[in-house]
Amino acid sequence: MMQSAAVLPTESPVKGVPEILGVPMQQIPQCAGCSQHILDKFILKVLDRHWHSKCLKCADCQALLADKCFSRAGNVYCKEDFFKGDFCC
Ligand SMILES: [Zn+2]
Ligand SMILES: [Zn+2]
Repeated sequence: MMQSAAVLPTESPVKGVPEILGVPMQQIPQCAGCSQHILDKFILKVLDRHWHSKCLKCADCQALLADKCFSRAGNVYCKEDFFKGDFCC
């Protein structure tokens, strides 16, 4: 007889926390940009969220913002876009 396999929701709690490099997954920060766990040596913390250095980009022009960034309304911008944002085209 045919039996369909039950699909478990991914959010369901798992028994036993998978570990990476001896650190429980729950303690590894998740990137706010790509939602992946951040295993980089450098973790950016902006707007109380963690980011890969390659994922922190200007919401407008996609420029990398590893050096400095400006935030407004939950988005991050490069300097130019942050200051030009007051104008509407
Ligand atoms: Zn990322
Ligand atoms: Zn920009």
